[in-house]
Amino acid sequence: MSTEHINWNDPHSINADLHCHSTVSDGTLTPEQLAQRAAENGVHVWSLTDHDEVGGLERAALAAAKHGMLFVPGVEISVTWSGVTLHIVGLNVDYTDSPLAKGLASVRSGRTERAMEMSRQLEKVGIEGVYEGALKYVGNPNLISRTHFARCLVERGICTDIREVFERFLTPGKPGFVPHEWASLKQSVDWILESNGQAVIAHPGRYDINDMQMDELVDQFVKLGGEGIEVVTGSHTVDQYSRYARRSLRSGLKASRGSDFHGPTESRVNLGELPNLPDGCVPIWDNWGKFLG
Ligand code: AMP
Ligand code: MN
Ligand code: MN
Ligand code: MN
Repeated sequence: MSTEHINWNDPHSINADLHCHSTVSDGTLTPEQLAQRAAENGVHVWSLTDHDEVGGLERAALAAAKHGMLFVPGVEISVTWSGVTLHIVGLNVDYTDSPLAKGLASVRSGRTERAMEMSRQLEKVGIEGVYEGALKYVGNPNLISRTHFARCLVERGICTDIREVFERFLTPGKPGFVPHEWASLKQSVDWILESNGQAVIAHPGRYDINDMQMDELVDQFVKLGGEGIEVVTGSHTVDQYSRYARRSLRSGLKASRGSDFHGPTESRVNLGELPNLPDGCVPIWDNWGKFLG
């Protein structure tokens, strides 16, 4: 199927979902299942953005083409900035043999050790063998995440849902939280730019930083060559849509839109079912028709 039906003259009319996860990171659907779901929900422009991993992109691209969607190769990089964990999304990235692919290998390498330490910490509060339990949910042995731990604790009936596991066990100060040093902000943006992609600040409303720190983050990100910020995401409230729309306009960053879908039973917002960007925002995809469509 072709992508000729996408109306690039009216970018706000395009259903773009530029953030979601497959079994290659911590999602529960395969890249092919996600592509089908996105197409069924009317997505025109779709990106798969697995955490620190590009291993699902080839499969996703093939599946998207079958459904007549424009596929945008993506990634969500884990970053440590000022002691806080942030996520930076890369869109339209070259992912084979690129500086990005090499950089991500180094980010992934710490995950297994971190997971074993999380398991040891949880043993101290009487919860045994969670590393092995989490592995049952892992689709990619190189990519074990806190989400896999959360699924295990829900399965065991220790918590009723994933959100509760994070609150009680997996966030800073809680028994299963192990601090970890991810990529730097500069590394993440450099890898994306050197791989011909566009860098986007993921779900800014989720970070535990004050307004001044957010100003500083956005300022540094723009200077490094960052291009976009997520405005409409499954992680934001309706108030935050307007708040980050204003910030995007003020900072000259383009606006992005993505569900951050992880699976049918775990996500608040379905793939492809987000509201439009607020009026006045410049969509990050506004000129993609010229070189992709
Ligand atoms: P990790 O990269 O291993 O630190 O895991 C991060 C992932 O955990 C995120 O991408 C989310 O999928 C998930 N996550 C983080 N915080 C929460 C939360 N409060 N509730 C549910 N899932 C969360
Ligand atoms: Mn995730
Ligand atoms: Mn994220
Ligand atoms: Mn995400």
